[in-house]
Amino acid sequence: MSMKNLFSLAILLAFGFVACKKSGSAEQNANQDDNAAKVLAYIRELGFPADQIVERDDAYVVEEDIVFPKNMQVPVEKVKPEQYYTGSLVTAAKVVNIRLKVDASMTSMQAEIDAAINQWNTVPNCKIHWTLVTGTSYDVLMVNSNLGSGVCGQGTFPSGGNAGGTIWINKNYIAGNSFAQRSRTICHEMGHNVSFRHTNWSARGESSATAVPGVGGTDASSIMNGGQCGSGATVLSTKDKQAAAVLYPL
Ligand SMILES: [Zn+2]
Repeated sequence: MSMKNLFSLAILLAFGFVACKKSGSAEQNANQDDNAAKVLAYIRELGFPADQIVERDDAYVVEEDIVFPKNMQVPVEKVKPEQYYTGSLVTAAKVVNIRLKVDASMTSMQAEIDAAINQWNTVPNCKIHWTLVTGTSYDVLMVNSNLGSGVCGQGTFPSGGNAGGTIWINKNYIAGNSFAQRSRTICHEMGHNVSFRHTNWSARGESSATAVPGVGGTDASSIMNGGQCGSGATVLSTKDKQAAAVLYPL
């Protein structure tokens, strides 16, 4: 190869590299936007009207305490509108060992978290089992977050067969509540992360939810009633437990 050709090749490679790098990052951004659009479409498909969807940098929030990360894996199966759930479950293999990591910001409420875990882990005939872990491998991270006034916590629905990945607790906001109410908030958000919707979705004007077969209808005692921060049921109701056993039978 002549010196001139070699020079041309070097120029070509240099430009090619720059061009490649540029289109690579543009492609990445496009993919991220693409997935966010899919997540938004999925939320609409679940029936949430546009005016109930609040956009954040990294996520969409609906009904105040349910978060859809923009990078979440959108479930492939279609959701049918009819205690209530999203129609998307944690796989049988994963629900028996949902590894919960408590961020350092939340360890001051470890006793409340332990009580909430105990409620889910002792539902009769039900496979749901939460396990506390401390390492870098986990399924769900529970973290303190200032969610403003009126919102006790936020959860995430399951996707891709995994439990929702994050639970945010408004620790300072619920600090003045009773122990039982603080633990209720944690237990309630954990319910979202295994697919439970608000039992009182209809009364709250929320989007239609899928009824758990044989366990639909309203339930004033349900811990999954929404909008009851600091005042709601503090233990899983009989129907909550029945619903959990139907969705995740032992
Ligand atoms: Zn909720």
